[in-house]
Amino acid sequence: MKKYGFTIGIWFLFEAIAVTLWLALDNVFYLFNFSYIGTCLAVGIFLYRRKLPYARHIVQFAVGLYMLLYLGVLCNENMQIEGFWYYLFLGVFEAAVIHYAVAKLFGPLFFGRGWCGYACWTAMILDLLPYKVPREPRKNIGWIRYVVFISSFLFVGALFLLHVAHLEKIMFWSFIIGNVLYYIVGISLAFLFRDNRAFCKYICPITVFLKSASCFSLMRIKVDKDKCVSCGKCKQICPMNVDITDNSRKRENGTECILCFECIEECPRRALHL
Ligand code: SF4
Ligand code: SF4
Ligand code: SF4
Repeated sequence: MKKYGFTIGIWFLFEAIAVTLWLALDNVFYLFNFSYIGTCLAVGIFLYRRKLPYARHIVQFAVGLYMLLYLGVLCNENMQIEGFWYYLFLGVFEAAVIHYAVAKLFGPLFFGRGWCGYACWTAMILDLLPYKVPREPRKNIGWIRYVVFISSFLFVGALFLLHVAHLEKIMFWSFIIGNVLYYIVGISLAFLFRDNRAFCKYICPITVFLKSASCFSLMRIKVDKDKCVSCGKCKQICPMNVDITDNSRKRENGTECILCFECIEECPRRALHL
């Protein structure tokens, strides 16, 4: 049962969010939206931990495509970071602001970077590429994410300061163009650095939020030091280069963990657990 505590916790958390937002904002869409996402995540993680092949990919597509195509393209909501700044500047607590609050600002205090492991529509494609386990050492260029983060803020801020017309249309097209660029850059970097998650490690601006909040995450993988024989297999398999054998909050690349559980499955001594 302990193995599935994370799954059950995720489902209850999303149901609580769904019901709270539905009642607080008097909008049944939030009940459907967060129930759908929470159920996809819970079922997907359950099947993944039952070792069903491709379960994590299936949940990535179920949530990622829903957000990208239904919310982003059909409902015209920019769910990228520009959309977050846009709705924030408008002073509207809806759409991308709620999405960011749940998935990227406050949610990670509970479930860390689960978003990156199971729901992100950029990573759903990157994870299909051939370099699931990085073939090259990590590069020291993570600063690029801060440049992208500040640029997105300045871009939206300038639109407001200059009183540019047709902001909604601009936001829609920046969502489409931004996503196409993310895919092009993400796929190119994966092949260049022989690492599927290179985009996540160096470019993605959302990690500025995700890394800060997940530092305090309630759910995190820990090692039982008595069982660990320092074989290093967990670090070899980790797509994010996390040193999971250190239980401290300052473990190497600790805020990069996407809770994919690859290390738990790989450990020959069953020394890792949530
Ligand atoms: S780091 Fe960014 S691109 Fe990578 S999975 Fe997380 S949100 Fe998606
Ligand atoms: S794989 Fe298991 S035994 Fe090996 S270093 Fe990691 S935690 Fe220790
Ligand atoms: S392999 Fe383990 S430490 Fe690495 S990202 Fe996945 S869950 Fe986190």
